[in-house]
Amino acid sequence: MMRKAFEYCRNCHEYYDVDLNALGVCRYHSDNPELDDDSEVWAEFFDKSCGMPPPDSFMEDPDFEEGYRMSCCDRRLNEPGCVVSRHKPSL
Ligand SMILES: [Zn+2]
Ligand SMILES: [Zn+2]
Repeated sequence: MMRKAFEYCRNCHEYYDVDLNALGVCRYHSDNPELDDDSEVWAEFFDKSCGMPPPDSFMEDPDFEEGYRMSCCDRRLNEPGCVVSRHKPSL
């Protein structure tokens, strides 16, 4: 039986090489991003939307990356995860 070379990590949501899984290779956030409505990124948006919050799909948009913070650690979306661990295979 062949061993799987890659597994999908349920911490960081990336595929990883099972032979290279050591403590420290997996970094992820323990909580979800939240809207940082004080960010100036949103000034124009809120002007146009009359205060309606942006759709979640904006999180994927690099132009609005600055407008979110991780609720676990207040870091930006593109900053390394606050939890350092090893990859955990999804079942
Ligand atoms: Zn975090
Ligand atoms: Zn991982």
